[in-house]
Amino acid sequence: MLQLKTETQLPQTIVMPSAFVLKKCTCCNLEFPKTETYFRKNGLFFRSKCKNCLNKNLPKKTNEEKKEAKRKSHKLWQEKNRIERNKKQKEYRCKNLDKYKDRVVKYNIKTTHSLTDGYILSLLCKRSSVEKKTITKEIIEQKRIIIQLKRQINYGQAKGLKF
Ligand SMILES: [Zn+2]
Repeated sequence: MLQLKTETQLPQTIVMPSAFVLKKCTCCNLEFPKTETYFRKNGLFFRSKCKNCLNKNLPKKTNEEKKEAKRKSHKLWQEKNRIERNKKQKEYRCKNLDKYKDRVVKYNIKTTHSLTDGYILSLLCKRSSVEKKTITKEIIEQKRIIIQLKRQINYGQAKGLKF
């Protein structure tokens, strides 16, 4: 009776050997059980390279190679972060449309009044089938003059208009 009781009280950790925990080798990128059969121990901790790789005695990475690897991983991180951040910003804008409406209206008034290159370019593209690339600075300048003239005729003065 007593023996049975001790059997059922075995802690879970003994049933689950550490061999089920996998560890990725930083050299060959393969996963092995996190045991001393596959990884050499450095004091208390397992080393990042598997025994296979350590035995191969590969040449150590030079400082330049290390720097390059760091640069690459940082770039990847940045790229991933950028996509994620843009997504979050978009979500935020959609949820807080009222907050951004004023800003958009202000921006629109500013661009239509100051007749920025970007605004004129978008006008030209909207009203004709011309490609953006083919529109030169001169065309933009001419369009600007035309708009200003039209505004002067239609509204008396292009500048100082208040909406
Ligand atoms: Zn390895």
